[in-house]
Amino acid sequence: LWLVYIDLDNFKLINDHLGHQLGDQLLCAIANRLRACANDGDTVARLGGDEFVLLLPIANQRPMASILQLVQEAVAAPVAVEQQVLTVTCSIGISVFPADGVDPEQLLRHADIAMYRAKEAGRNQVQFFEENMHARVAERALIESELRHALARDQLSLVYQPKVDLHSGAVTGMEALIRWQHPGLGAVSPARFIGVAEETGLIVAIGRWVLRTACAQNKAWQQAGLPPLRVAVNLSARQFRDRVLLSEVRAALEDSGLDARYLELELTESLMMHNVEEVVTVIESLKQLGVALSIDDFGTGYSSLAYLKQFPVDYLKIDQSFTREMLTEPKVAAIVRSVIALGHILGFKVIAEGVETGEELHYLRLHQCDEMQGYYYSRPLTAEAFAAFISR
Ligand code: C2E
Ligand code: CA
Ligand code: CA
Ligand code: CA
Repeated sequence: LWLVYIDLDNFKLINDHLGHQLGDQLLCAIANRLRACANDGDTVARLGGDEFVLLLPIANQRPMASILQLVQEAVAAPVAVEQQVLTVTCSIGISVFPADGVDPEQLLRHADIAMYRAKEAGRNQVQFFEENMHARVAERALIESELRHALARDQLSLVYQPKVDLHSGAVTGMEALIRWQHPGLGAVSPARFIGVAEETGLIVAIGRWVLRTACAQNKAWQQAGLPPLRVAVNLSARQFRDRVLLSEVRAALEDSGLDARYLELELTESLMMHNVEEVVTVIESLKQLGVALSIDDFGTGYSSLAYLKQFPVDYLKIDQSFTREMLTEPKVAAIVRSVIALGHILGFKVIAEGVETGEELHYLRLHQCDEMQGYYYSRPLTAEAFAAFISR
C-alpha cells in the first residue's frame, strides 16, 4: 500500500488574492479529478486545507508510476472558475507500507516529511520517504527554533561585498549579505537558513533588520567622510507579499537619514511569477521613492521577457552559475553575451556576480558588461574592513 500525500504548492497565494470562494471552487474541482483517478479499493481523502491523501493498494500489474502521473496531471490541469483560469501544482510525498511504517500515523508522518522534501527540492515534484530524511527534518527544526532567537540575541550581522565598474575600476556600491554566528552551531550559512526563514515567515522581521542595518551603516560611512556609495539589500519574494514593504523601506530611509539614491534593492525573478500587477505597482512605488532596483540571479528563474519590460529596474545581475561556466562552456558564454545585450536593449545596466579570475573579468569587460562583483576583487567584508578597503 502506498500513502500518497499531496499538498498544493501555490494554493494559498490564489486563495489570499482571489478570495476563498474561488479557492473553494478550485479545491472542489481538484478533489473531483483526484476521485476520478482512483480505482476501486483506493481511498481519496481531503486532509483539510489544500492537502489530500490517497491510499493506493499495490495490485498486481498496476503501473504505480503512471498513477502518480495521472495525479499530477489531475492537479495541474487548468481550472476555469468565474472567467478565470487557475493553475496549481502539487508536491507529493509517498510512504510505503510496511517498509516505511506499520501504523497509519507513522505512514502519514513519513509521507509528510517526504512531501516537505519535495517542496524544498523546488515544488511540483514527487519524493519517496527515505530514512535519512529524519536527520534533515531534525536539522531544519533546530535551525528554525534557533533562528527565532537569533535577532534578539544579536547573532546576526551584515558583511558587504564591493561592486566595481568594469571600465573605470571604481567601486560603485556594495551588497549587504547576512551572516549568522551561533554559539553552538558556529557560522551558519545563508544557504542553510534563508529558506527556513522564508518558509516560516521569519524573513519578514529579519529582512526589516537587514534593511535598517544596511541603511544605517551606509549613512554612518558617509558621515565618516567616505565617498557616498549605494548599498544593495536582498529582498525575498515573501517580503513582497507583505504590503508593509513600502512603508518599511521609507522608514528605514527616514530613520537612518540615508538618501534614497544610495539604496538598492535586489529582487529575484520568482517575484514575477505571481500577481504581476501588484508586484509592478509595488516596484513602481519603490522606484518613485528613488531607490535603485536590480533583478538578482537573472537567468535562473522563470522570468518572462514580457514582464521584464514592465519592471522599471536599473540592473540585471547575471547569476554566478553562469559566470563560473562561461569560459569553459560555449553555450553559457553565449547566454552571458545575450543577457548583456538584452539588458542593454531594455535600458538596464548589467552586473556579473561570482567573478573569481582575471580571465573572467577580462571576458566580461570585452563583452561590455558594466559592473562586476566577486572574490577576484573582494570577498564580502565586515563593516570595519569595508571602510578600510575603500579608504586604502
Ligand atoms: P546572492 O544574492 O546571489 O549573493 C551572492 C552570493 O555569492 C553570496 O553568498 C556571496 O558571498 C557569494 N559570492 C560572492 N562572490 C563570489 C565569488 O566570487 N565566488 C563564489 N563562489 N561566491 C561568491 P552568501 O553570502 O552565502 O549568500 C547566499 C545567498 O543568501 C544570497 O545569494 C542571497 O540569496 C541570500 N541572502 C544573503 N543575505 C541575505 C539577506 O539579507 N536577505 C535575503 N533575503 N537573502 C539573503
Ligand atoms: Ca499548501
Ligand atoms: Ca543578491
Ligand atoms: Ca546569485
